[in-house]
Amino acid sequence: MSDTVKYLLDETRIPKFWYNIAADLPSPPPPVLHPGTMQPVGPADLAPLFPMALIEQEVSTEREIMIPGPVRDIYRQWRPSPLFRARRLEKALDTPARIYYKYEGVSPAGSHKPNTAVAQAFYNREAGIKRIATETGAGQWGSSLAFAGALFGIEVDVYMVRVSYDQKPYRRALMETYGARCVASPSTETHAGRAILEKNPRHPGSLGIAISEAVEIAASRDDTNYALGSVLNHVLLHQTVIGQEAIAQFDMANDYPDVIVGCTGGGSNFAGIAFPFLGAQLRGGKKVRFVAVEPAACPSLTRGKYAYDFGDTAHLTPLTKMHTLGSTFTPPGFHAGGLRYHGMAPLVSHIKELGLIEAVAYHQIQCFEAGVQFARAEGILPAPEANHAVRGAIDEALKCKREGVSRSILFNLCGHGHFDMQAYIDYFGGKLTDQTYDESELAMALAGLPSVKAA
Ligand SMILES: *Cc1c(COP(=O)(O)O)cnc(C)c1O
Repeated sequence: MSDTVKYLLDETRIPKFWYNIAADLPSPPPPVLHPGTMQPVGPADLAPLFPMALIEQEVSTEREIMIPGPVRDIYRQWRPSPLFRARRLEKALDTPARIYYKYEGVSPAGSHKPNTAVAQAFYNREAGIKRIATETGAGQWGSSLAFAGALFGIEVDVYMVRVSYDQKPYRRALMETYGARCVASPSTETHAGRAILEKNPRHPGSLGIAISEAVEIAASRDDTNYALGSVLNHVLLHQTVIGQEAIAQFDMANDYPDVIVGCTGGGSNFAGIAFPFLGAQLRGGKKVRFVAVEPAACPSLTRGKYAYDFGDTAHLTPLTKMHTLGSTFTPPGFHAGGLRYHGMAPLVSHIKELGLIEAVAYHQIQCFEAGVQFARAEGILPAPEANHAVRGAIDEALKCKREGVSRSILFNLCGHGHFDMQAYIDYFGGKLTDQTYDESELAMALAGLPSVKAA
């Protein structure tokens, strides 16, 4: 077993630390700016929304950040998550590639998101917070935070993107079972929501709008904080348990990935599996190809602009430099609701600019084809978001076949699709279409980017 691994895991094989890639990057990402002053934000600017422990993690450059005991105790319920070799899929594809997947669907909420939800709920409870307001797209994040809130006795209010609220009633039921309150967004509960509904009473919603609603509620109440399920540095940090475990598991299998594939919405599951391997590479370890797979209908990394932008539609958040489609952009209502975000995690955007990762975009039908092929070979039914990673991994395996080489491919199967069966029903019924975004709306959203002078 390699030294890194021995150091980071104890006998339980659950990481003792989260891995912070900021310690190993050749250059730091650009600072987060206050939209009023255009100066870098300080801890005081973020204090109305987040507990100080998370703000410290957000700006930390320490390589290892200790995972608190109570959080590890909860991780124990499903961590370490299994790493599988997809031998039957390899056979079905007739590929010389070795395909591995790390399966995060074993968490209680069914995805990677509880890895950060549990940590965020813990730090909020330590800070005496009574309630957390948040947004959710497909409902994966909302149900993860609802689960974590139930464990730590924190009330959770979830603003759920309207199109998913209607498409996925069972996710809502799960959140309510855990004790959370779930509201369709845009809602009439906030200024941000009411302003959108005035212009379009049937607005399908977007993550950007739901974030505005949750931030508005959190900023206006002392006992209420805000939590985000992706994008921010501390969220990506918490997800690094995935990649650290994978390093140890590959060690046991006497292999090492040549290619790592993850789907990207806000970038957290991709970062979770990729960053520990990328960090090892940056410290002189083996070079790996990292492939981020995004939906062609919301292609921030492949079609967005690398620029300062707001994280939400009502412009309540600070400005971060990221690949963005513009904060007012509303992607079409395709089925991978967790990937419908206009921006990308600043850390993922930064490493893309540094040339350390690649990005590809796929339409949804080819992703469902891949997901169905995977389910028939491996038995696990992936979430629509995860189907993007499955497609990416299968395409890498088919490339190995064409080139007649055996490479080791690792992808993150970030969640199961048991609450997304309507999407599969639509796929089998031939009702799924490859939606494209409106080019003129994208142009308009990009034209509306805030102007930030080069620092
Ligand atoms: C939320 C979610 C995503 C997208 O978010 P990331 O931060 O990019 O990981 C992808 N897959 C699943 C299953 C999700 O729940």
